[in-house]
Amino acid sequence: SYRKGGYHAVRVADQFAGGRYIAQRKLGWGQFSTVWLAYDTTTSAYVALKIQKSAAQFVQAALHEIDVLTSLSDGADMDSKCVVHLIDHFKHTGPNGQHLCMVLEFLGDSLLRLIKYNRYKGLPLNKVREICKCILIGLDYLHREHGIIHSDLKPENVLLVSTIDPGKDPVRSGLTPILERPEGSINGGGVTSLIEKKLKRRARRAVAKISGRSSPIGGIEAPKSERNLDGIDVRCKVVDFGNACWADKQFAEEIQTRQYRAPEVILHAGYSFSVDMWSFACIAFELATGDMLFTPKDGQGFSEDEDHLALMMELLGKMPRKVATSGAKSKDFFDRHGDLRRIRRLKFWPLSKLLVVRYKFSERDAHEFSEFLSPLLDFAPEKRPTAQQCLQHPWLQGIESTPNEMRNESSVEKVDVGMSNLQIKVGK
Ligand code: ATP
Ligand code: MG
Ligand code: MG
Repeated sequence: SYRKGGYHAVRVADQFAGGRYIAQRKLGWGQFSTVWLAYDTTTSAYVALKIQKSAAQFVQAALHEIDVLTSLSDGADMDSKCVVHLIDHFKHTGPNGQHLCMVLEFLGDSLLRLIKYNRYKGLPLNKVREICKCILIGLDYLHREHGIIHSDLKPENVLLVSTIDPGKDPVRSGLTPILERPEGSINGGGVTSLIEKKLKRRARRAVAKISGRSSPIGGIEAPKSERNLDGIDVRCKVVDFGNACWADKQFAEEIQTRQYRAPEVILHAGYSFSVDMWSFACIAFELATGDMLFTPKDGQGFSEDEDHLALMMELLGKMPRKVATSGAKSKDFFDRHGDLRRIRRLKFWPLSKLLVVRYKFSERDAHEFSEFLSPLLDFAPEKRPTAQQCLQHPWLQGIESTPNEMRNESSVEKVDVGMSNLQIKVGK
């Protein structure tokens, strides 16, 4: 993909926007972009630099994402909104073409990584509640204040926030940014690769230190030590607005990543904010159990869509006939009685029972958690609670600190306990 129209190849210490941003280390990548940790020489802060592929459709997608992020960042106190903050954007011309670049606030690991670190066993419920609360604050902001549907909510697209912000305080976080490449490191040869290795090692240490990442960033291997979140206030932010749309200005019929896709999307029955609420419920379940809620597969005589609908009904009961027959694709899946055409025998397995039997929840935890989740998984989209209503749910009450209060706590304390700003603590 590092060719014309594709990714821009970046090396440590490369400069962007006339020297304002200096590349430190690659943080991640997606289908559209590579994302680098960069040092902002103007503000002496670390930022995340998302460098889009250069072909026309990627430029278009980036312009859209910038458009959404700009309206979200406009005039708001983004620290309290649980949505990533767009700091700046610019164009960068390289050998593969012209790339749109987004400068984003630098965030930590994704929830997917957090679930992996926990070896897919699920997080403690009080941590799940803290994370849920953050995501809901973000969704409430998107939905109610901006009329925006994220439409690709999943664990990968929710990133943890550092307890102290190294970006705002690089000196205290003990990091020296890499500002330039050492002499002679441009040319090939043995010396170069040594310098290169050294630079990379240094950058890796820096990232580990400021983000709490200690395993290879691109790799998926779980670290040997198990990680837990004892004593850590977990905060997170919603990212990746490449697929977001306005409720009154939609672009695609087929939205969302498969496992997090709402039934009305499968049925092509139209959608609104409530598709994000469905995905949110899938994330909450995954955080609590370590397993995806729905993992549909096609099989002999049925499609992935049909399996998905069957799995939903096995967990949530039969889909009301009115809903089942409401979409442009309903006839492909359901007969006129509202029964699946090609998957006849369903094994009903309600959520609270699943939590007790398979995931060894106590009766009480299972009851409370499924009381929280079940309304969000209503087949009728308009019956699902809004993010605002969800925030009022008893299951989320009594969490000691809300994100706002957390920011007022002394962050020095967290440095003292040797955590620097780790979001994820390595257990004994
Ligand atoms: P996708 O194929 O998922 O649409 P994309 O090209 O739009 O990908 P993103 O999902 O925005 O890119 O980012 C890719 C990865 O880079 C993320 O999964 C994450 O690991 C990392 N990343 C993105 N934004 C940030 C940030 N603000 N701070 C730290 N890391 C980030
Ligand atoms: Mg993504
Ligand atoms: Mg994207």
